[in-house]
Order: sequence, then C-alpha cells, then structure tokens
Amino acid sequence: AKDAGRDTLRFYDPKMQAAVSARAALELDMRTGLAQGQFELYYQPQIDHGRIIGAEALLRWRHPRDGFVSPAHFIPLAEETGLILPLGEWVLKTACQRLASWALQPALAPLSLAVNVSPRQFHQSGFVAQVLAALAGAGVDGRQLKLEMTEGLLLEDVEDTIDKMGQLKGYGVGFSLDDFGTGYSSLSYLKRLPLDQLKIDQSFVRDVLTDPNDAAIARTVVALGTSLGLRVIAEGVETEAQREFLERHNCHAWQGYLLSPPLPVAEFEALVHRTNAV
Ligand code: C2E
Ligand code: CA
Ligand code: CA
Ligand code: CA
Repeated sequence: AKDAGRDTLRFYDPKMQAAVSARAALELDMRTGLAQGQFELYYQPQIDHGRIIGAEALLRWRHPRDGFVSPAHFIPLAEETGLILPLGEWVLKTACQRLASWALQPALAPLSLAVNVSPRQFHQSGFVAQVLAALAGAGVDGRQLKLEMTEGLLLEDVEDTIDKMGQLKGYGVGFSLDDFGTGYSSLSYLKRLPLDQLKIDQSFVRDVLTDPNDAAIARTVVALGTSLGLRVIAEGVETEAQREFLERHNCHAWQGYLLSPPLPVAEFEALVHRTNAV
C-alpha cells in the first residue's frame, strides 16, 4: 500500500503539491491564529467636509513567525476553505463592541463603522441573525453599522441578497457597494438593491488627474449615485489634488492615505479627537 501511494504521487506536479500543502498550512495557521487572538481590526477614517464621520474596519493578522500577513493574501483562502465564517463573525462582533465603546464617548459616538462582508459569509443561512446578535450582544444601534459588499456578492443570488438587505435595513444597517465599477454589476441591479452608498474604487482614483477616462468614470459614478439617492465615497485618495477633484465633482466623502492609513484603535481615536476638535 505504501508503494502504491508513492506511485500515485508520481502523477502529481510537485509544484502543485507544494502549493497544496502551503495552503493547508496557511489554513491551519489561520485557525490557530483566530483561537489565539492574532487577528486585530485597524480603522481607516472616512472624511466628509474635513470631519471624520466614520471608519472602515480592516482586518490585520499578526502571525507569530511571519509577522504581518496581508488580508489580500488570507481572505481569498479563508473564503475558499470556509474559515471566513468564524473569521467574519469575529469581525462583526469585534466591530460592534468597538461601536459600543464609542457610544459612551461623546466625540466618538457619532461615528459609523463599515465592515467588509465576504460572499460566502453573506449568503450563509444565519447571516441576518448573526449581525443582529452582534448588535444586540454589544447593545449598539444598527444605524452605526455599515456593511461593505462587492458586486459579485450582490449578483450571486439576487433574491436572497435583497431579502437579507431588506431585513437588516429594518434595523438601520447601511449598505455600501465596494470597489464599484470593477466587477460586473448591471445597472438594473443598482435600482433593485436597497443600497445606501457607492464606493469609487481606488483604481479609478489613482490616475483621476492624468487619465481622462478615469476622470470621466469618477465623475459619472458620483452623478449616477447621486441621482439614485445614494451617497458616494471615494477610496484610495492619496493626494490633495485628487481630493480637490472629487470635492469639485460633488463626491460626498473620501478615505485614503492623504489623511491616514488604517490605524490601531488608540491611534485612530486620537486622530478623531485632533481632526474633529477644530
Ligand atoms: P478593500 O475593502 O477595497 O479595502 C481597501 C484597501 O485599500 C485596504 O487594504 C486599505 O488599507 C487600502 N487603502 C486605503 N487607503 C489607501 C490609499 O490611499 N492608497 C492605497 N494604495 N491603498 C489604500 P487592506 O487593508 O490590505 O485590505 C485589502 C482587502 O482585504 C480589502 O479591500 C477587503 O477586500 C479585504 N478585507 C480586509 N478586511 C476584511 C474583513 O474584515 N473581511 C473581509 N471579508 N474582507 C476584508
Ligand atoms: Ca472595503
Ligand atoms: Ca474597496
Ligand atoms: Ca478592493
């Protein structure tokens, strides 16, 4: 049997074999990491008229051996393996606990917090109950919580999506369409889905001053969102000139390195006090 096993393995591409075990190792590391508290939320401010009005919660993983691991690296695998379910639940709970602590501090109480939601997480059967439990467990108002979803997620099962969004909206939870323009949304869904906000993807913001096509897309997203009654927020704003362009074209809010990268909570809160005090 041992020999047969070796024979069978010969047919595998060794590179593929290595990739498979690297993924298995990463998955195991993620499980351990979640159990051992290696995950943390960072907070990136969202700005409207010079004031911080909220934050986007972005997941960070401090791996004991590899150091900081980017969510761009582990989120897709978590999504594939299903680990996104406990991980996403942890993010929701942690975000709601953060909102509860802000609610006790007058300068922080008005802030909203946006949480990224993965397709598999959203489409699991208990998702609405999970969000409501996170809100109720922390004792926070649904109106402070925003969920960021991507176009692919919204199109996967439109009836389920509309139903879940409708239920959560009944509790005041807001919805943003993330990375808008990079996926395949059909405009007809924009009017069917109970969205509150569009996020202009950073790939359009980056060259907004030098690429006339990006400029046209950014302007058009603002006009489209506004005429549908949605707020429009730009992400990836790195320069004053980009911010000025977006403001001139009536974009409602922005986030980006120009004010701040995502920060650990204490630094984020200090930034809110400094920025909103004046
Ligand atoms: P995203 O939701 O599109 O988040 C925006 C990404 O752009 C973040 O990367 C953020 O740090 C980065 N960013 C912010 N401002 C700037 C800027 O001015 N310039 C540039 N170049 N980048 C900027 P991050 O934190 O590495 O997250 C990457 C992606 O991982 C996120 O993209 C999101 O799709 C996913 N992600 C992060 N946290 C979570 C989470 O809790 N749950 C889920 N499902 N996905 C998450
Ligand atoms: Ca996002
Ligand atoms: Ca985004
Ligand atoms: Ca993105």
